[in-house]
Amino acid sequence: MPIPVPAHPHLVQNYGRQDVRFVRGQGCWLFDEAGKAHLDAFGGVAVSALGHAHPGLVAAIASQAATLLHTSNHYHHPLQERLATRLSELSGLPRVFFCNTGTEANEAAVKLARLWSGAHAGSKPRLIACEGSFHGRTLGSLALTHTPKYREPFLPLIDVEFVPFGDASALERVMRDDVAAVFLEPVQGESGVQVPPAGYLAQVRELCTRHGALFVADEVQSGIGRTGRMFAYQHTSILPDVLCLAKALGGGVPIGAVVMTEAVAALLKPGLHGTTFGGNQLACAAANAVLDVVTQPGFLDQVAANGARLQAGLRAVFPEAIQVRGQGLLIGVQMPTDPGAIIKAGFDHGVVVGPAGGNVIRLAPPLTITAAECDEVCKRLAQAKASLGAVAAKA
Ligand SMILES: *Cc1c(COP(=O)(O)O)cnc(C)c1O
Repeated sequence: MPIPVPAHPHLVQNYGRQDVRFVRGQGCWLFDEAGKAHLDAFGGVAVSALGHAHPGLVAAIASQAATLLHTSNHYHHPLQERLATRLSELSGLPRVFFCNTGTEANEAAVKLARLWSGAHAGSKPRLIACEGSFHGRTLGSLALTHTPKYREPFLPLIDVEFVPFGDASALERVMRDDVAAVFLEPVQGESGVQVPPAGYLAQVRELCTRHGALFVADEVQSGIGRTGRMFAYQHTSILPDVLCLAKALGGGVPIGAVVMTEAVAALLKPGLHGTTFGGNQLACAAANAVLDVVTQPGFLDQVAANGARLQAGLRAVFPEAIQVRGQGLLIGVQMPTDPGAIIKAGFDHGVVVGPAGGNVIRLAPPLTITAAECDEVCKRLAQAKASLGAVAAKA
């Protein structure tokens, strides 16, 4: 098993970390302090869309760092305007607000929902989210997050009602004209990579339209090509009213975005919301470099093909899995028991995968992963699994 890395005396111990220190990366590979190569199939939680040290991203960041890092949102800047234009064209939603993280994007969306109610004389006080949802850790986003262990120590939170994910009838039963917004992840990430049944998003869209509620799609994890389309809702023909982005958008440089309709954008009058860092020059240069790659012809088809290949390979490695599921390169392997030991053994065999809720091994590799690297991920996971079998046999 990996050699334990002792808890650092000057770091707050709020994370359960793996016993490894990564010091360098190249493409899909991470290198630890001893120089050992690990194939990265987790992408720093679906962030490292272009892998590590991608030349285009490196060049964009380096040249922007040497030009201008930050001026604040007191001023205009062309990189932000270009990125907003591109996100609008890609999403079909015309207005963009930039922030820094996923939780901030959802936090802004909660405020938009409040303004939406305000615009209707306060007649829309209710917020609805889904069971199994994860929307972030700040108080507004935490209120939308269903997992009891994340939320309960911080009660009271603002009122949010939860309905089962993927069940349009359950949503229909609680939908009335007093709902300001329905928040959901088109593919749930944290809760174990849950893909809703076909038709669900269209039914949610219809219910929101019927009751004048905002449909907020949290694509912090599923967006920017992860599922084989630029945004996961683009597997359907619907448009949300509000789209939350972060994680992969900057390829590792923190940046978040809230993309929205004109009607929603009109609610945010000057001074009502803002952030110091949101969409600064460095972050926008990085995000534009990510989009340069992800929008190349055929790139998303490659993500879809490699996702299918990886899923098939994982089914062969884990025949005992309850389910192998996902969309594109967001994949969950639901195991019969806690997969923590397999994830840990991966570090011995040079493959990085992560956990998700419900005994799930989560894979969210760089979108630039090759077919051969997908096969190598499976090969190394098979070795990691076999090593555990050997340990069990010895004991
Ligand atoms: C990760 C995540 C968030 C929170 O993003 P942070 O950048 O960690 O604040 C919100 N929503 C979804 C769907 C996520 O996966």
